[in-house]
Amino acid sequence: MRVFGSSGVRGVANDDLTPEFVCRVAMASGTVWGVEEAAVARDTRVTGRLFADAAASGLGSVGAAVHRLGIVPTPGAQAYAEREGVPVMMITASHNPPEYNGVKVIGDDGIEPPVAEVERIESVLRTERFARASWSEVGGRRQVDGARRAYVDELLTAVDAERIAAANPTVALDPGHGAGALTSPEFFRRLGCRVLTVHAQPDGTFPGRDPEPIPENLGELGRLVETSDADVGIAHDGDADRAIFVDENGTYIEGDATLAALAAAELEADDTVVSAVTASRRLLDVADAADARVELTPVGSTNIVTEIRDLEERGESVPIAGEGNGGIFFPDYRLARDGAYVGARFLSLVAERPASAVVAEFDTYHNVRRRIEYGDRSEREAITDAIEARASEADGDLDTTDGYRLDYDDGWVLARPSGTEPLVRVYAEARNRARAVELADEMAGALEGAKAGVEV
Ligand code: MG
Repeated sequence: MRVFGSSGVRGVANDDLTPEFVCRVAMASGTVWGVEEAAVARDTRVTGRLFADAAASGLGSVGAAVHRLGIVPTPGAQAYAEREGVPVMMITASHNPPEYNGVKVIGDDGIEPPVAEVERIESVLRTERFARASWSEVGGRRQVDGARRAYVDELLTAVDAERIAAANPTVALDPGHGAGALTSPEFFRRLGCRVLTVHAQPDGTFPGRDPEPIPENLGELGRLVETSDADVGIAHDGDADRAIFVDENGTYIEGDATLAALAAAELEADDTVVSAVTASRRLLDVADAADARVELTPVGSTNIVTEIRDLEERGESVPIAGEGNGGIFFPDYRLARDGAYVGARFLSLVAERPASAVVAEFDTYHNVRRRIEYGDRSEREAITDAIEARASEADGDLDTTDGYRLDYDDGWVLARPSGTEPLVRVYAEARNRARAVELADEMAGALEGAKAGVEV
């Protein structure tokens, strides 16, 4: 049984994901941690307090005294965990729509636990071998104020504040009603930026836009930049561990282009950059040019974190890692994704030239996606067989880290069955849009044909 997906536990609140279940996840986590103290934090979702209460009860039941942090971005909860040396249960569904909620667990080093520890938590959950405390040993709780302020203070010491302040930038900020609404405006103001905001009131109904920072949700941010003198627009997801940018003209910047630009500024010879198997050629080109290595993992931040830990233990230098969805790691700062920190790192580049110029040379690929849904096991098997057949016949370079990725000279295509939903995602990328469409359509067509029982 896999409870934790590639980014924690998620579901429609009080339907797929119940408070009873979150309580048991907390009991299992507390049992594995075996600690006397732990913390609970949440994003702005309407059901956040319900699940935070359930998590606190679960932790208390296995004997942990609970620090209640209230609404804090996930990276702020990670900063707290590291500073105080306590693990944290973060109640968030990240970028998912308002009706969702979920749990991310954070170790007492501020880092999400490695895959092996997640499996131990799942095992305790499955066998219900909880280390239940006696009545006199259950954990108490205390309200902690100031976790947000401490996080912002720490961020300010971690970035190149002088360089950014000297450029006197105007930043349009869209925290999307999420937890970043309570930290990012203050952070960028104290950094010396003039800050304009949209969707900046914390609101778990997400009235202005859904939490996912994708182009269709960022029209108002684009217009704010366009109609003001802002140098850049920055958008977060619901728990503000991601940052997506809009250039000075209000044009959406692909997350892959941002990652490539930041990597180009960061990578040196013999460094390693870690990304998922969905990685853009833009990033691979940058690594090539820098004489750096690339390690591709299965999709999901847990896998990326695990790979970075392994590489660092072997003495490798991993200055940057992440995915094209705006979730970027600078491991020398912290092995965590942090939307505000990434925003400041991008501002350091914008201090020298306009945002559009920063990403121009990385904006040369086109990405196309398809999704093929299936109904039952036989359809799934037919589709999987078809992917394998195509992969073995094709003359591209095959990577089976997570799904089947075929790399050709002029582009690549990936067919990846979802771990949690009955569908296969197809990703394609090429310098030429027509070629990207062709790669995606060929793969999607073969899978649709197999599903319909047609020989292709
Ligand atoms: Mg997130």
